[in-house]
Amino acid sequence: MSSRLFVVAGPSGVGKGTLIARARAALPELEVATSATTRPRRPDERDGREYHFLDEAEFARRVEAGEFLEHVSYAGNRYGTLRSEVEQRLRDGGSVVLEIEVAGAREIRRQMPGAVLVFVAPPTMADLEARLRGRRQNTETEVSDRLRIAAEEMRARPEFDHTITNDDVDRAAAELADLMRSAMNAEEHG
Ligand code: ADP
Ligand code: 5GP
Repeated sequence: MSSRLFVVAGPSGVGKGTLIARARAALPELEVATSATTRPRRPDERDGREYHFLDEAEFARRVEAGEFLEHVSYAGNRYGTLRSEVEQRLRDGGSVVLEIEVAGAREIRRQMPGAVLVFVAPPTMADLEARLRGRRQNTETEVSDRLRIAAEEMRARPEFDHTITNDDVDRAAAELADLMRSAMNAEEHG
């Protein structure tokens, strides 16, 4: 079994979290890196579970200290992948998945050429909007910001190793789990 770093990117609301949760159920050896963010915690979120919630000063301190593998500003907040969530697990021979936006995925590709990059696309932009609204997590302003960013993110799709269209959730989750399993079973190169 090879140690692999997977990146799952794609517009907010496309179903990345849903697909990763299902793929993990099929691949218990896969670990999810918990990102850090300055975004306010939502009522159903727990510090250290969905994210490490940091204030601006603490996030900036950690950037300065080189603790992030990548970090971005997205819709007015900062998000980043902590080295401590990834590097030791990979050294120990584990596989890790990052659920991040497109600019972060690009940065990971630059730093870790062996990473497997997966883009999750919505069947249509109307489906994406319906999912963002249906999740009921974002205000109207947040939804329109996220849709505007999504249109831009869709253009990055050719940079990824794989694209999965999240049409039917069972089918798409099986496709993600299959490609992860194949990558973990393949010889490592790079
Ligand atoms: P992301 O992690 O990409 O922001 P989520 O996993 O939170 O997206 O999914 C956004 C919403 O869309 C959730 O309410 C989820 O239940 C729903 N969803 C996910 N996949 C599908 C699908 N294939 N068909 C319809 N709804 C979906
Ligand atoms: P949300 O606020 O909905 O939790 O996340 C907003 C966006 O930030 C999503 O596209 C999510 O995948 C992305 N994101 C979450 N964590 C990280 C991270 O560590 N790095 C980057 N680059 N993006 C992240």
